[in-house]
Amino acid sequence: MQIDIITIFPDFFRGPLDYGIIRLAREAGLVKIEIRDLRAFTRDRHRTVDDRPFGGGEGMVLKPEPLFECVEAMNLASRDERPSAKQSVVLLSAQGKRFDQRLASELAGMDRLVLICGRYEGVDERVGTHLADREISIGDYVLSGGELGAAVIVDTVTRLIPGAVGNEASTRQESFAGAEFCGDGRSDRNVRATRAAVLSDGDKSTSPDSTCASGGLLDYPHYTRPADFRGMKVPEVLVNGNHEQIKRWRRRSALEKTLRNRPDLLDRTELGEEDKKLIAEIQAASHEQ
Ligand code: SAH
Repeated sequence: MQIDIITIFPDFFRGPLDYGIIRLAREAGLVKIEIRDLRAFTRDRHRTVDDRPFGGGEGMVLKPEPLFECVEAMNLASRDERPSAKQSVVLLSAQGKRFDQRLASELAGMDRLVLICGRYEGVDERVGTHLADREISIGDYVLSGGELGAAVIVDTVTRLIPGAVGNEASTRQESFAGAEFCGDGRSDRNVRATRAAVLSDGDKSTSPDSTCASGGLLDYPHYTRPADFRGMKVPEVLVNGNHEQIKRWRRRSALEKTLRNRPDLLDRTELGEEDKKLIAEIQAASHEQ
């Protein structure tokens, strides 16, 4: 996969893309990341990338010409053919479709991703309507530029590329990893297959083991040594429990945390009988307190 990031601050990306999984994935040749300096596509002496807004109002707007020329210099497929060529040009925008694990998994299926970072008051609208294939927002808040958003997308997408994360099972079982959150990408099929296997497995149907999809819930809590840290103890069941008990405890904890922090996720999750029992238990326990 190749990812191109178009920005007026190329140095911004020194650092964020040089650590951990992204660095390893780049070194292994799983992903190639190119930073494109928008000013290289200007033609005037001052290398102007912005201009005042038509109709008046605050601030400056990124001009269309350098952005169009920069993307056109990349030899991408035509806009119509980009989906079948597995290419996507993304404009980072607070007005875009909200980024989530499902969208990340869809983008992870691309061969070529171009991320356009806006600045100032934003980007000339013609970039969104005639150059980019989609607008993506990383959340309901306004950043001062698209660069942090691009870094978030690169990070999220790169770790979904097969081989980028050492233990692939770990990207299937973590928070949001469920059929509801995964698009048509490869990990979606994995999740569905895993879920199908789990669901056909009689009694165990609703409590996936630790290598299974979280089924759209938040991840369960993790602990490591020491078992007793300043009196804060690791739950007994993880130290002495058997596999079945651990599995049940993890499912229950994931449900509990989801119920507490992200109850909206439960509406989108298929819950089995065992899950419903666990939720009733959790609710009863919280009422007792
Ligand atoms: N006037 C715009 C905000 C411009 S902020 C508005 O109200 O919608 C400048 C740039 O930061 C944007 O062009 C975009 O590229 C980036 N940006 C801001 N918020 C973002 C978000 N939530 N997600 C992704 N990019 C964002």
